[in-house]
Amino acid sequence: IEARYSPLHNGSTTVTGGLIVLRDVTRQRELERLKQEFISIISHEIRTPLSSIRGALGLVAEGILDDDPQTAKEMVSIANNNIERLVRLVNDILALNRLESGQVDLKFQWCPVTSLVQQAFSSVEALATAHQIRLEATVPDNLWVWVDPDWLVQVLVNLVNNAIKFSPSQTAIIVTAETLASEAMIRFSVTDQGRGIPADKLQTIFGRFQQVDASDSRQKGGTGLGLAICRRIVQQHGGHIWAESELGKGSTFYFTLPCPEQKQEEDIENQESFV
Ligand code: ADP
Repeated sequence: IEARYSPLHNGSTTVTGGLIVLRDVTRQRELERLKQEFISIISHEIRTPLSSIRGALGLVAEGILDDDPQTAKEMVSIANNNIERLVRLVNDILALNRLESGQVDLKFQWCPVTSLVQQAFSSVEALATAHQIRLEATVPDNLWVWVDPDWLVQVLVNLVNNAIKFSPSQTAIIVTAETLASEAMIRFSVTDQGRGIPADKLQTIFGRFQQVDASDSRQKGGTGLGLAICRRIVQQHGGHIWAESELGKGSTFYFTLPCPEQKQEEDIENQESFV
């Protein structure tokens, strides 16, 4: 509680009373604390790749590696990877900020789930191949959803990306989507056979910069914001997102979307074709 006292005068200098204003500033303080915490995390997240870039390019610039072009090349590649990480970080911070401040105007349209999954798979194909991971989809052909396709594909990309990063090679990732008629919703799932997530982290990982191990984001090239972005996008579509997992066996991320009244065939015909 913040208290402010103002004396009341009777026109001259005599104080005839006083006014005390009490204000509950708990929420304001909490917001301020969160903002400070966010800024200090971001500064750290930016500083780490910047020092790697400075270190790597410094060695090349000083000419120390002039006789060792192979190592010089590796240093440039380290600098490059860190620059890409910074770009991803800035893009994710901006996306999350736009989503959280309500600046995103979702462009809803009817989309076939098969195309959304296909688009997501194409974006992560290179990573999956590099990790020798099989991507599989079990999605009914006639399943359509009322979504903003760009943002929904982003959710799938983030979830499949994580599944790839935290799975051993030669395993599979399975994406499914089905209608839960009793609950009038469509449920997506992304299942991996990776290392799993401890029960006490299943909820916290949807927060900004929350990881199971402090080094996860950095080691696997992530930004620590992927799941926070997924949660916001799913919420803005009116759905929920959560994870279930068994340590050492794998994890499944689920998210739901409400089904508006049954899709009408004419709606789809009238809408610009989905690409
Ligand atoms: P990032 O992957 O960039 O670190 P995310 O918000 O996408 O950030 O994920 C947060 C954390 O959740 C990861 O750092 C990791 O610890 C954990 N995590 C996410 N997906 C999985 C998964 N499929 N298997 C195991 N751990 C996961």
